[in-house]
Amino acid sequence: MDDLAYGKRDKRGDWKPNRRLEVAPFWSWPLKLPKVLAWLPGYFWPWNAFHMATALLYWFYIVPDVETMKTIGWGWALWLYAVNAAAIFVFYGVFELRYYIQRAQATRFKYNHKFPGDTPSDVFWFQSQNLDNFLRSFFITIPLWTVVEVLFLWCFANGFVPWVSWQEHPYYLTLLVLVAPAIHEVHFFFIHRLIHWGPLYRWIHSVHHNSINPSPWSSLSMHPVEGFLYHAVAFWHLVIPSNPIVALFQLHVAGFGAVNGHLGFEKFELTENMSLDSHAYAHYLHHKYFEVNYGGDGLIPLDRWFGTWHDGTKEGEALMDARFQKKRERVNARA
Ligand SMILES: [Zn+2]
Ligand SMILES: [Zn+2]
Repeated sequence: MDDLAYGKRDKRGDWKPNRRLEVAPFWSWPLKLPKVLAWLPGYFWPWNAFHMATALLYWFYIVPDVETMKTIGWGWALWLYAVNAAAIFVFYGVFELRYYIQRAQATRFKYNHKFPGDTPSDVFWFQSQNLDNFLRSFFITIPLWTVVEVLFLWCFANGFVPWVSWQEHPYYLTLLVLVAPAIHEVHFFFIHRLIHWGPLYRWIHSVHHNSINPSPWSSLSMHPVEGFLYHAVAFWHLVIPSNPIVALFQLHVAGFGAVNGHLGFEKFELTENMSLDSHAYAHYLHHKYFEVNYGGDGLIPLDRWFGTWHDGTKEGEALMDARFQKKRERVNARA
């Protein structure tokens, strides 16, 4: 595919899309129904459908029976960890292998022309972004994801929280599934905004931001506090009346879905005319500029409401620069 039909490449070789990042169309008034209808398929397909499919697979084939889950035990906890780790290894690994190792698409649609594997840096363990990100994901973050999973399954199994049944409340639970990605976005925005506060940033979140040019393994490369808080989004289903399948979906939107923002490419070419959209640009800009786009890609436009939205255009850039300038003036005035 010709990526220059969709964007521009600068002198350095970095590609950026021509299109403006847009928040979900139901936030624009008056409501434009055709726009909403055009947006809907992308909401389900392929990413959220994939997270629902994995949630169902887990529930029917992986998660142990309710009797077992009444008692927390190493056996089933380690089993869940092994499956989570294997699933992430395969799911993230496919992107890593095809687009970062084999470089099947070279730098077409790639925001940053460099590949992390080519640039050793002292900020990473063993000076390798890939190795550092990989080890942190598999030995810190995925274990914490599993801790969250074990805890909420244990709560459901023991009846500590309501277990809403699909037979009795199919519409309510369907609605909850549809809203789950929005819950994710709000939860992520606020914990993320919190750990961007100076002291917490240096202690916790700087680990994730070491990857200025993120790649798939960067997705879950986090400090343990962030790794836990990020996946704790599933605990909302202990507060809202819910069902373990919906809680698993919520967890998978976080765990598997983290890769979206870190894919590094705008599109993956499938055939000469067909491609898969990554939805990575908003979070790519966050890794590039740090203090923009704390949330996702505008399902709930918190960044727009808080004035931190960067839509990828020149105007977006100018708004950001003006904000940074004001901040510098405030800091200088205090000094
Ligand atoms: Zn990130
Ligand atoms: Zn951040």
